[in-house]
Amino acid sequence: MKTKVSIGILGIQGDVEENKTVAEEALNHINTKGEVRVVRHAEEIEKIDGLIIPGGESTVMTTLAAVQGGILHVITRRIDGGMPVLGTCAGMIMLAKRAYDRIVGETKQQLLSKIDIVVERNAFGRQRDSFEAKIDMPILGKNNNAFKGVFIRAPVVIEAGPAVEIIAQFNDKIVGVRQGNLIGTSFHPELSGDDRIHKQFIKTVLDLRKRRETAEVTS
Ligand code: GLN
Repeated sequence: MKTKVSIGILGIQGDVEENKTVAEEALNHINTKGEVRVVRHAEEIEKIDGLIIPGGESTVMTTLAAVQGGILHVITRRIDGGMPVLGTCAGMIMLAKRAYDRIVGETKQQLLSKIDIVVERNAFGRQRDSFEAKIDMPILGKNNNAFKGVFIRAPVVIEAGPAVEIIAQFNDKIVGVRQGNLIGTSFHPELSGDDRIHKQFIKTVLDLRKRRETAEVTS
């Protein structure tokens, strides 16, 4: 591989440092040279190979992103160009096509609309209803242990289009999805002390780079 892989963590609000730590751990565990950097500006987002949108508060993230000079447009363009993205909790809401809330109905927040899902925000209740649950995730490998899902004011996926692969369920509710190079989870893999989902994401980034480099060499 030509250059070091570069993973960006969207640093507007939320579990930014937690994601950075787990992504660095994941890079080490798969023996890959690379860097993890917190990104806030368009020119930084242009340079990364993959982006993690952390858990936090999606309405705050979109509002601040708009103040930040319209960086959602840059993220949208990079996703259209194939950039892999992992969105955890609020990050998954940002990737969704539409978002609902039991209290306000369809939320008016600006979304990236790149995964063909409708999500219900705060579907398990409020902060005090936060919980942890073991989640079976076959994409982590057949003989892998269940993943400890940390749910904090978590959304659930209430509709998923045909291009969406369901990668995690809890009590018949969809809590993890993948569409192409985009992965979304209702829970926070950055808070579970387990880097397997981040490793899976970084492998997606590496696979894409390898395919592109091979295409460059053979064309
Ligand atoms: N409820 C939050 C939202 O709607 C998400 C919560 C989280 O990321 N822990 O953005």
